[in-house]
Amino acid sequence: MRAAVTSGVGEMALLERPEPPRPGPGEVVVHPEAVGICGSDYHFFTGELSSAAGGALFPRVQGHEIGASITALGEGCRPELRVGQRVAVWPLQACGECYPCSVGRENTCDNFQLIGIHLDGGLQERLRTIQDQVFPIRTESRAVAAMAEPMSIGVRAVSRARIQPGEWVVVLGAGPIGQCVALAARERGAELLMIDRQQRRLGMSTDVGAETLLWTEADEVVLAARGWAGGGGPRVVVDATGVPAAVRAMIEMVASAGRAVQVGMSGEEVSMRIGSLTEKELDLLGVSCCGSNEFAEAVALVERHDALVARMISQEFPLEQAPEALRFAIGNPHEVMKVVIRGE
Ligand SMILES: [Zn+2]
Ligand SMILES: [Zn+2]
Repeated sequence: MRAAVTSGVGEMALLERPEPPRPGPGEVVVHPEAVGICGSDYHFFTGELSSAAGGALFPRVQGHEIGASITALGEGCRPELRVGQRVAVWPLQACGECYPCSVGRENTCDNFQLIGIHLDGGLQERLRTIQDQVFPIRTESRAVAAMAEPMSIGVRAVSRARIQPGEWVVVLGAGPIGQCVALAARERGAELLMIDRQQRRLGMSTDVGAETLLWTEADEVVLAARGWAGGGGPRVVVDATGVPAAVRAMIEMVASAGRAVQVGMSGEEVSMRIGSLTEKELDLLGVSCCGSNEFAEAVALVERHDALVARMISQEFPLEQAPEALRFAIGNPHEVMKVVIRGE
């Protein structure tokens, strides 16, 4: 079978690899039908993520946003799973023994392994995994099934943020993750404002039911967002960019006693006035990936909004062009919302 293998920093090639063995008890083999490419894939490919592990992660088959169909089932799998069924893959495996696992926070496990980062992922024709990772999903579209994973980040973010109906929520960054956060927040009854540098991305935000604001200068944006929310500023602000200026704006615009939620990943550093944290008594909340219950919630959310979710997909490439697809996504941020790589 064919696999797109990342062999080192900036090096990906299509190789022939042996088929996985027959699934053992509790295991499944799936055929990845669509794999979404996201920021963490860029970071892995360009070495920011992979070199932190001293190159130990190479060679790796990337791809953690996976829509797939089941091709083989081992003994003892749960009865709802059938061969031929479309599934979304939950990429996280946790140890179950460390402190975060012991307090029900498996998504921040000290020893966690992510399919597509620490384990081989979806950019290959067959993937063997354990049955706990696969969730049946009802959608006609293969690519939409791959969106369950980014949606699960949105579900995790609104659950960390404890968003209540009618709350004024600002989302900085209108890329796929920002849109997923917005959709999940909308379902909780939030009033939404989305902010981005790109007018094009904000077009999608309107469909999600958000008001929009183009990012200009930080001071201007903070003032406008506080004016929009009224009454002392937005209760919840989510940063889905990982850009220092946006993170600082989040801290400045959020209401006193509010929640500032960091979803965007980055290795950059940010300077901010320490007093803003104490005076406002902010809850500063980080968001990683999600647990299995939240993944199931994300699957249901994608099923309910599959037409809207489909519109987040901006380009599709076949598996043979996986290296080109990744380079295209990295090189064309203004044209790309979500790039998906198709299996046959
Ligand atoms: Zn992702
Ligand atoms: Zn653990």
